Amino acid sequence: MKLVILDRDGVINQDSDNYVKSAAEWIPLPGSIEAMARLSRAGYQVAIATNQSGLGRGLFPATALTEMHNKMKTLVTKAGGRIDALVWCPHTPDDQCDCRKPAPGLIYQIEQHLGLSAKNAWIVGDSLRDLEAGIAAGCKPVLVKTGKGLRMLEKNSESLNAPVFDDLAQFVDQLLQTEISE
Ligand SMILES: [Mg+2]
Ligand SMILES: [Zn+2]
Repeated sequence: MKLVILDRDGVINQDSDNYVKSAAEWIPLPGSIEAMARLSRAGYQVAIATNQSGLGRGLFPATALTEMHNKMKTLVTKAGGRIDALVWCPHTPDDQCDCRKPAPGLIYQIEQHLGLSAKNAWIVGDSLRDLEAGIAAGCKPVLVKTGKGLRMLEKNSESLNAPVFDDLAQFVDQLLQTEISE
């Protein structure tokens, strides 16, 4: 099962406590774009599942989200990779939707989009709710220390049952290396 599901903010790009609201504010983390391209080249499908409650809160318009995602896609394509599925939750917690992580709705959307099961796929996040959403859909959770990851790790070090990596690039190094040696 060659599918990796990524959270966006804090995993692919710099997170902000004030929300990432425009393409200008969307800044990739070191090595993340290249890591996604390496996954594509190794035959993995790359999917992204992101909570974007800034939409529901009216902090930025849908056009800004499109511009952020166009920027991301262009960078990944230039690096020789591909984003196979990209889904987001526009709701706020008050909406009580079934797609805002930790609910698994976005993972199910990815399954529908790609026409495959996400069971045993990797899910990479910097928040507990990313990992919980993945676990609810049968994915294997991975935490990265970028974004909110380090803070999260310090708070939940005992209860967390997931491998931890410095960043997405280090996880992809490990994943592809393990494959070669298998
Ligand atoms: Mg995040
Ligand atoms: Zn939602």
